[in-house]
Amino acid sequence: MLQYNDHIAIALSGGKDSLTLLHLLVKLEERFPRSDVTAISVDEGIDGYRDEALQLAKTACTTLGVKHLVVSYRELFGTTTDEIAQLSLGQTPCAYCGVLRRKAINKAAVLTGATKIATAHNLDDEVQTVLLNMLHGDPLRIARSGPVLTDPRGKFLPRIKPLCDIPEKEIVLYAYLTGLQFQTVECPHGHEALRNDIRSFLNQMEVKHPGTKFTLLRSAEKLRHQIGESILLSELRECKKCGDPTPHDLCEACIMLEAIVA
Ligand code: SF4
Ligand code: ZN
Repeated sequence: MLQYNDHIAIALSGGKDSLTLLHLLVKLEERFPRSDVTAISVDEGIDGYRDEALQLAKTACTTLGVKHLVVSYRELFGTTTDEIAQLSLGQTPCAYCGVLRRKAINKAAVLTGATKIATAHNLDDEVQTVLLNMLHGDPLRIARSGPVLTDPRGKFLPRIKPLCDIPEKEIVLYAYLTGLQFQTVECPHGHEALRNDIRSFLNQMEVKHPGTKFTLLRSAEKLRHQIGESILLSELRECKKCGDPTPHDLCEACIMLEAIVA
């Protein structure tokens, strides 16, 4: 996932996963003098939730001596997740929030001169997403959400998920044992019913059949090798609105933003 001279942009939300990732990568980076780490936090504009997380992220970066860049939906897109949640758009706020966050982190990472973006998805997140894609009837998306995502056309910064095969429980344990201060309050919009059902199902399966989550992760990896190339090599052009690379006339974020404004 990493080279000795990488400049890693870490997506830092202030939750246990991203703070654990920050601590681990900062430790690793100390052993490689030509590497660098910058933390990027996104303010989605979620009242009573994001402020605490941003403060925790800021404190962690100050303590560890890590550069910290905060970008906001308001400043980048002219709206917030709270505002989006009030509209009747036919999809959950998370569907919009997730796409906009990816775009915000990309933009910020390019600004910092990063060579890679690291996100803190853990094993549980990964396998939930695999099943979610299957149940949404979009299995090809599995190829676009692997632990290492590189773009042979060089249009997107590589994205890595160093914690992708660490169970969530172990991350919680690490965070408590090392005394990390992390946010425990849940996002008020984060009630994706299907994901919650999948989470319960996988946890039950793991108790009854230990190893289920790892097996699912490996199965997704095999599938990814089979379908990955055809997805990644589709032709890209510039989004007519923002100029970002996209296989369509408009990128996913601009399509969503048009629907929000309309
Ligand atoms: Fe955004 Fe959903 Fe995450 Fe809340 S739970 S921050 S709405 S993606
Ligand atoms: Zn666009």
